[in-house]
Amino acid sequence: MPTTAGKTAARHDIAADPNPSLMAARRDWHRLQAALAPEMRDWLAGLVSASSDELARDFYDVLMADAEAAPLLSNEIVQTRLRGSLAGWIRSLFPAGPAPDFDSMATVQTRVGEVHARVRVPLHLVSRGARLIKAGIAGRIAGSRVGRDELVRLLLHVETVIDIAIELMGAVFVSGITHQSRDEEAYRLFFLSQDLSLERESQRASLLEWNQAVLLALAGGSGSTEPLPRIGRSDFGLWFHHRGGIMFEGTPVLDRVNELMQRLDEGILPETDAARAAGDGFGPALGLIQAAVNEIRFILNDAFQAMIGAEAGRDALTRTLNRRFLPAILKREITLAMRRDHPFAVIMVDLDHFKTINDSHGHSAGDAALRQAAETILGTCRSSDLVFRYGGEEFLVVAVEAGEAAARALAERLREAIGKTEVVLSGDTRIRLGASVGVAVFDGHPDYNHLVEAADSAMYQAKRAGRNRVVVAGGR
Ligand code: GH3
Ligand code: MG
Ligand code: MG
Repeated sequence: MPTTAGKTAARHDIAADPNPSLMAARRDWHRLQAALAPEMRDWLAGLVSASSDELARDFYDVLMADAEAAPLLSNEIVQTRLRGSLAGWIRSLFPAGPAPDFDSMATVQTRVGEVHARVRVPLHLVSRGARLIKAGIAGRIAGSRVGRDELVRLLLHVETVIDIAIELMGAVFVSGITHQSRDEEAYRLFFLSQDLSLERESQRASLLEWNQAVLLALAGGSGSTEPLPRIGRSDFGLWFHHRGGIMFEGTPVLDRVNELMQRLDEGILPETDAARAAGDGFGPALGLIQAAVNEIRFILNDAFQAMIGAEAGRDALTRTLNRRFLPAILKREITLAMRRDHPFAVIMVDLDHFKTINDSHGHSAGDAALRQAAETILGTCRSSDLVFRYGGEEFLVVAVEAGEAAARALAERLREAIGKTEVVLSGDTRIRLGASVGVAVFDGHPDYNHLVEAADSAMYQAKRAGRNRVVVAGGR
């Protein structure tokens, strides 16, 4: 069998792995194999081997009709190869002769799981595939003339063998995906760890440099046959295609800047070249070019600003922690709380009638108020507490080592401090803020979402009860 195993560093040694779920699977596997008489194993092997190609074909026919699965499998080569390996996989689980060895079987599942993780086959599609194969084999067993007892035993055997295989595959799949996201994160962090302010300045300068080269060429007057420099091939364009592509991956920035550069290089600039060559002057070119450059500059400035904020994990406007770190922090706090039997709490703070601030004083007044509110919250919490921007005008505080009484007291202090906060706007206008606060103390539930939802609904209760108050989930 062609394999790249030799190239893969530190292949997983199943036989030496003390993982409890692996040991459980091994135990079940041995029990299962021992329960099947050798002649029945051979009979089943014959049936599976005669129908494995057909099973694999049916399997892909069903998946190809699925809108989600089809794009993953649309390539002809992939399909032919996958069909072959799927048929082989099915046969390997039900061989004739001695019971298949657990470790080699598990090694195969591990390898398949790794591949699935790399191609990012969704786990539910794998489960659905397993279901199709089980049903295919079961149908064939039921269609043959075996006795009732044997039928039950065989069906159970097939069901469990495939379940164990998928279970092993799933375990590897999950750890593979986790590794991958860690790698991707590390890659992004590598870029983030570069000096972003410096990078922003140097890209601003290279965009300007290209812009000046164009203006200089245009100042040379009409009648020139020298084409204007293209932005895509400028230092700036190269930077954007390569480094920018990674830095801004998955954000609208990437598409919009590419679109603007394309509009320049394929529309505005060639048209201007033609007009100049024909001695027609350059019409509206100047305005169009400057508008595109200004938009690029504006978008990049914003994007850099957001990244510089995210670099320290902080929200750019309020300097509170970015919400994307919340799951990691809460999982960690839950583990600590369970291990040391120390409670902690989640406090949800939502500013009252915030929309009216925007409506009557404008969005930038709203921004100033948000900044001020965040400052108040950060100043009121202990330095060990973690303050997140949870939504537009919602903040979430993870109050560490706090039981109900301490969390309620902190929530009251927050509400009071926000109520005393005065935002001074230009023209000496002053506005007052208010907040409704929900508190949920860790109750032993391992899912962090449960805690966040409890705090959220306590906060809504506070809103319904008239705002500017604290409600503790499950509290008195
Ligand atoms: P309630 O007391 O029920 O919470 O009323 P509310 O007006 O605060 O609540 P709602 O959720 O209806 O409105 C929140 C508003 O916050 C809507 C949105 O315009 C504003 N907002 C959200 N994020 C920002 C932001 O970053 N800057 C500014 N200026 N306003 C924001
Ligand atoms: Mg809100
Ligand atoms: Mg609000």
